[in-house]
Amino acid sequence: ILEGDVSKKKDLQIALNDICKSTYKKLLNSDSYSAVLYGVCLLENNPLFNAGTGSKLQKDGRIRMSAGIMNGDKNIFSGVINIQNVKNPILVADRLQTEKHTIVSGDKATQLARDLGFQQYNPLIQKRWEEHLKKIKGNTGTVGVVALDKNGVIVTGTSTGGIGGEIPGRVSDSPTVAGNYASKFAGISATGIGEQIVNSGAAVKIATRVEDGMILKDAVDKCITDASKLNYEFGVISISHKGDIYVNKNTDSIFYAWHDGENIDVFNY
Ligand code: ASP
Repeated sequence: ILEGDVSKKKDLQIALNDICKSTYKKLLNSDSYSAVLYGVCLLENNPLFNAGTGSKLQKDGRIRMSAGIMNGDKNIFSGVINIQNVKNPILVADRLQTEKHTIVSGDKATQLARDLGFQQYNPLIQKRWEEHLKKIKGNTGTVGVVALDKNGVIVTGTSTGGIGGEIPGRVSDSPTVAGNYASKFAGISATGIGEQIVNSGAAVKIATRVEDGMILKDAVDKCITDASKLNYEFGVISISHKGDIYVNKNTDSIFYAWHDGENIDVFNY
């Protein structure tokens, strides 16, 4: 679970603790796919995070959100890019899992959401509007959930309001396999500068290295070390088929929580 805005550290830690606990409960009662959807929705609904309610604004003062979900067992990625006026972009991404065309962008993504019955919803909060007026970009702050269930299925979901102040229509990494990827071996969700995450092919590259035999920690560390050499700034949360959980970054703080079945912990790393 990721967030880069350090202004409300305590609130973020409490929120992450609660969300992690209830997402884990959901995981026990269902599966990794349902748990990821559930967890990302909770994060999107919490205005502390830059996804769904509380999303940042693009340069023209509009909120355009993006989200991706990947089922590592079925090997299917689906996503929405620059969708507007919906409460939970991840739920629209979910509806594309079973379609022939799995990634939809812009006005057509918004239209699709309406056609599917998603209500009109304004995700703007006062704080983001003020940041926009003052041209404060703040830190980044995408949200993501990675989960492994008892059947060994890995699922990842990532949702974002973008970096704030970006050129209208700019595409983030979150609805791409660089920012969100799951296989039978690993699941990765990224946060940071989207263009640099895309240039690094981060999430899919880490998953491939794990599939080829590298342990998760080494694969993630290599990705972050390579990124640092290019002065790229991003971080990832990740999980492997063996149940390893690992986070690394070379950017501002990442707030994350993990639950391994016995312990829960929240970090500002
Ligand atoms: N990766 C996101 C983007 O570039 C921002 C973030 O992680 O906060 O849109």
